[in-house]
Amino acid sequence: MNKPLHNKVAIVTGASRGIGAEIARTLGGAGANVVVNYAKDREAAEAVCTAIQQAGAEAIAIKADVSNSAEVCRLFDAAIERFQRLDILVNNAGVLLSRKMSDISDDEFDRVLDVNVKGVFYALREAAVRLEDGGRVVNLSSTVTRLMLPNYGAYAASKGAVEQLTRVFAREVGDRGITANIVSPGPVNSEMFTAGKSEETIRRMAAISFLGRVGEPEDIAGVVLFLVSEESRWVTGQNISASGGAA
Ligand code: NDP
Repeated sequence: MNKPLHNKVAIVTGASRGIGAEIARTLGGAGANVVVNYAKDREAAEAVCTAIQQAGAEAIAIKADVSNSAEVCRLFDAAIERFQRLDILVNNAGVLLSRKMSDISDDEFDRVLDVNVKGVFYALREAAVRLEDGGRVVNLSSTVTRLMLPNYGAYAASKGAVEQLTRVFAREVGDRGITANIVSPGPVNSEMFTAGKSEETIRRMAAISFLGRVGEPEDIAGVVLFLVSEESRWVTGQNISASGGAA
């Protein structure tokens, strides 16, 4: 029996670890051929490809810093050269900066916006002309755009921009049956979330969810799987909170 994403081709940015790696494995498990993008960790990206291949789909690891438009263009070239089509884009790559605005340098602010906003814009620009009709785009935001947490000014600004880019993109490509949606996770057990946090802080953040725990990458990947499926064809321009009810 064919899997639901059989013959579909997906690019997942920032898929060498964490949420992106789980999204890539989940789409591969559903039958999609996956382009596993990474910035630094080739070995980890190759391991994600191996897992996808073991599940019976094809996968290639492509290095590209999403904040560099030429590298993003090459990422799309590589995907189409290898698989001859593109159906799904998941803009997952992102960086976190958790610091009071008074202490953020120009370079730090630029880096967050370069990766989180320009990276998404560059990929959407390519996707607009390279996605097949009926394609799917999912962009990762965060519940910080709703929670107004101190220390997350630059990061929340970047994710707010991602949300607006997504909504306008959804309008611009809707006449081709392409949908574009946002998934906004709350705290998720990944390197981005756990790095530098005490167990007490993690416990406190777990408590904000109705379910009393932080999310796991699998919790987010399942939502993305729905949004790239045929069943979600009437859902576009939406922001789905995947946070155990936290926001
Ligand atoms: P991680 O830091 O664990 O993983 C980030 C991934 O992005 C890595 O694969 C990394 O690749 C890649 N990456 C980083 N910079 C770039 C770049 N410039 N170009 C290409 N790839 C890059 O993050 P998470 O898995 O936790 O987060 C994934 C997404 O979910 C992000 O957009 C994040 O903002 C969002 N999110 C996460 C939450 C959380 O609590 N974890 C909560 C809400 C949203 P490499 O290692 O090869 O450099």
